[in-house]
Amino acid sequence: MARLRFHALAEASKRKPVKVIEDSKRSVLFGENVFNENTMRQYLTKDAFKGVMSAIDEGTKIDRKIADQVSSAMKEWALSKGVTHYTHWFQPLTGATAEKHDAFFETIGGGMAIEKFGGNELVQQEPDASSFPNGGIRNTFEARGYTAWDPTSPAFIYGTTLSIPTIFVAYTGEALDNKTPLLRALQAMDSTATAVCKYFDKNVKKVTSSLGWEQEYFLIDQALAESRPDIILTGRTLLGHSPAKGQQLDDHYFGSIPGRALNFMRDLETECMLLGIPAKTRHNEVAPNQFELAPIYEEANLAVDHNSLLMDLMGKVGARHHFKVMLHEKPFAGVNGSGKHNNWSLSTDTGINLLSPGKTPMSNLQFLTFFINTIKAVNDNEELLRAVIASASNDHRLGANEAPPAIISVFIGAQLTKVLDELENVTNGKLSPEEKTDLKLNVVGKIPDVLLDNTDRNRTSPFAFTGNKFEFRAVGSTANCAKPMKVLNTIVAKQLKDFKIEVDKLIETKDLKKDEAIFNVLREYIKASKRILFEGNGYGAEWEKEAKKRGLSNNKTTPEALKVKISKKTIALFEEMNVMSSVETVVRYEVEIEEYTKRIQIESRVLGDIAGNHVVPTAVRYQNLLIKNVTGLKAIFGKDFEKHAAEQIQLIKGISGHIEGIHSKIDKMINARKKANKIENIEAMAEAYCFKVKPFFDEIRYHCDKLELMIDDELWPLTKYRELLFTR
Ligand code: ADP
Ligand code: MG
Repeated sequence: MARLRFHALAEASKRKPVKVIEDSKRSVLFGENVFNENTMRQYLTKDAFKGVMSAIDEGTKIDRKIADQVSSAMKEWALSKGVTHYTHWFQPLTGATAEKHDAFFETIGGGMAIEKFGGNELVQQEPDASSFPNGGIRNTFEARGYTAWDPTSPAFIYGTTLSIPTIFVAYTGEALDNKTPLLRALQAMDSTATAVCKYFDKNVKKVTSSLGWEQEYFLIDQALAESRPDIILTGRTLLGHSPAKGQQLDDHYFGSIPGRALNFMRDLETECMLLGIPAKTRHNEVAPNQFELAPIYEEANLAVDHNSLLMDLMGKVGARHHFKVMLHEKPFAGVNGSGKHNNWSLSTDTGINLLSPGKTPMSNLQFLTFFINTIKAVNDNEELLRAVIASASNDHRLGANEAPPAIISVFIGAQLTKVLDELENVTNGKLSPEEKTDLKLNVVGKIPDVLLDNTDRNRTSPFAFTGNKFEFRAVGSTANCAKPMKVLNTIVAKQLKDFKIEVDKLIETKDLKKDEAIFNVLREYIKASKRILFEGNGYGAEWEKEAKKRGLSNNKTTPEALKVKISKKTIALFEEMNVMSSVETVVRYEVEIEEYTKRIQIESRVLGDIAGNHVVPTAVRYQNLLIKNVTGLKAIFGKDFEKHAAEQIQLIKGISGHIEGIHSKIDKMINARKKANKIENIEAMAEAYCFKVKPFFDEIRYHCDKLELMIDDELWPLTKYRELLFTR
């Protein structure tokens, strides 16, 4: 093993920056390999173009004749670019992306063949998908799954394959993927938000949800990463002593980007441009070898697809540059992990950002309406919002003083806090003309000014208002953004629906003017949502105590956090908003809880193997060397030898202690695993893995990391943290 480490180090030390694809002007490359509006104009008949555009803008159905025209145009375009295959591209519940390639090629008898791609192939496909997680849906209903074209996310070419974004559903109609419920949530958001917008502007016909994600990641030399079985099999290091230098000096954050990494980024961004992913920002992150890529925000469904595509792309481009791209939330202990902030906002087809204060009191009342409804939605569903970002890997990050805690709260800044305080005192019922004028001039009318110099930013908040959007910061770096976007849009849509009902009722029954009714309802929402607003330090222990008093949930582990996903309230919420049926909700819960168990199980096996079969034998070998040395000293010095061999004898004893520690903990861990595996209930099994198996990880690691410090570096089999993190 030690040979593997030194071989990898030799490989890594020889690396030179790989030559990049020649950079050209980004705007010229942008969307080159996407069947976008511009390309469609060139290739489609007028009718077909109109059909697709109204499917995108208004959600109308595309009829078969149009689908035939679109497919043949797509084929023509793809063939002109050297494409040979097509695939339906979808996002099963594994969270990753899936594809199955078919050739355009088709035989037509007489020894001849043609390139064929018809409407049928575009619209629907039946992958043999029995191995995707489905929580039993397909068994229960004995139904197969099929993929169906999502025209709102454009087809794209990668390599020689035409990829068609699709949804993945069972024949009985249940969604088997992440995209379908997201599309339904976006639909719910559109209809409820549009209805509310009409209080302010009758011309609004559509509200779109936007997402701007920020992807953090580590770049580790591929040879070094591959020398570590834990990185290969679990995506993170399960042991390794922290290096003498970590991130204490803060010298990596926003520092100059090292050459190899920069070349990787340039290539990655070129690929992004070709695929229409609007990559905009790149920089170093806090930890050594940690970086971030952020695009310009887009419509949420498209942004989700683009993030999934990017994560895929990173692996491929990384390999060209001899990098392993690590997306895991916590690849290295003692070093900051990675997240994926989800910046979220709402905008109208009239070009208004609903979460951005406007220029007039009326537009600001609209802003406050959406702002306060969002806060209320988060307040009422904080536990669900926590649940949607739960995963075995994100558990390492939340609440570990580098990311927001497992408690959801909303940060809005001092200025808006003041505005809400004033709104809270609005008179109950009808407002006097003076009060109305005062509200217009001094409260609602002043927002744009105050926000302009609103410089307070709270990095410790999991859900922060940042001037014209909310930033959901607790999302993990490996997450499929469809999940947080589904929940966020559903809870806010539901909230807006209730808001509309309450305002209409006040107008009707209390004879209030529209704005009076709105002020009245918002006032009550502010009062009801106080506990979720928190401006202080989210990392502090004080906040945990305070949050408990406020009745906010603090679910630190995934098995605890996931429970709320199948509460009566959650099931009813998704049903009411037509986002997921109760079966679809329960299935997702089951898939996630099982995934949690499997991940901990795999980590436990890998750790047992590395500690028992790599670390212990190395320790024994080194101990034998020491014993030989001591025996030699005894031969030379006779009775006096102990004076000369004191240190060695200490080491020999120390090593024995740690070997014993590792063995006994591994035994106990295996026993705990055996017990857990016998549990039939999937929840109880996940809990057993969480509370009975996982605690051994740190104990085993402790002994291994101690041995790393004792044993001759020449013998140590595992590539060390300083080598993984500081090789450039
Ligand atoms: P940071 O959070 O690193 O300080 P910014 O706040 O400037 O950076 O922006 C972060 C992200 O927010 C970017 O990806 C950007 O595209 C996105 N963003 C900006 N406006 C919106 C919006 N209206 N809706 C969604 N995302 C947005
Ligand atoms: Mg950010």
